[in-house]
Amino acid sequence: MRISIASGKGGAGKTTIATSLAVLGTERGLSITYLDCDVEEPDAHLFLHPTPGEEQVVTVPVPQVDEQTCRAAGVCGDCGQACQFSAIIALGEQVLVTPDLCHGCGACVLACPAKAIHETPHRVGVVQTGQAGRIHLVQGRLDVGQTMAARVVRRVKALAPAADLVLADAPPGTACPALEAVRGSDLVLLVTEATPFGFHDFTLAVAMGRALNLRMATVLNRVDGYGRDIRAWCAGHGVPILAEIPTSRRVAQGYAHGELPIRKDPEFRRRLEQLFGQLVGTAGALQR
Ligand code: SF4
Ligand code: SF4
Repeated sequence: MRISIASGKGGAGKTTIATSLAVLGTERGLSITYLDCDVEEPDAHLFLHPTPGEEQVVTVPVPQVDEQTCRAAGVCGDCGQACQFSAIIALGEQVLVTPDLCHGCGACVLACPAKAIHETPHRVGVVQTGQAGRIHLVQGRLDVGQTMAARVVRRVKALAPAADLVLADAPPGTACPALEAVRGSDLVLLVTEATPFGFHDFTLAVAMGRALNLRMATVLNRVDGYGRDIRAWCAGHGVPILAEIPTSRRVAQGYAHGELPIRKDPEFRRRLEQLFGQLVGTAGALQR
């Protein structure tokens, strides 16, 4: 069973809730695989404190041009025309490659009539594993200055070991890396901050899930008065609210010190336990 924990905006409390659910799962005797797909800022390890395991480099195959062969063919420019990302351009007598823009699609290699292009690996990030009790953590980390976050997310998912429950901590927002993280989930739990901004980004996240034909539910986090509009919207659009979590100073303090809030705040723990039961029940029912 794979559940993704996502949110339309950053800072909604996604990782706090995802790591808490992972620990609650182990307390119930389940094996957990935790995929930290928030590759630009992976921080689940700060709460789970895993023992480090292996590290694998993630690369993208980028083109390398044999200049002599290319010149002999007259620098035709076909490679640049085949590239949708302007990562390879023929300029005068030269072909310029910008590896950071390259998606590794191979179109330029196929387009070159002189076979002057071959591919070389270009590093974009790493995937690291770790073990925290019965939680197996797989974490992606995009290198500084790189843009191919979805590649790293894909590798994280590919390295996920089997477990009773797989929790994927998705990047915030609705761009390619977030889509890649939630794709194939049995259920997407959208962590939504109960504010007007949170509401707006939540509707975008629901649209993303619908585009991928995914089942979704939400948890309203830091409910502090505002929330009526979101509840009405969810009722009208068939997105169940599985839990509402009030603002808590203890949770915020625990987060600031890298401590799991379920160990700091009994009320937070009670609500997360309810959420865990509902979540697993809902995802399990969808699987059957
Ligand atoms: S591999 Fe694809 S993205 Fe990269 S330069 Fe070639 S055509 Fe462009
Ligand atoms: S398609 Fe091949 S021959 Fe033509 S400009 Fe590009 S590298 Fe050179």
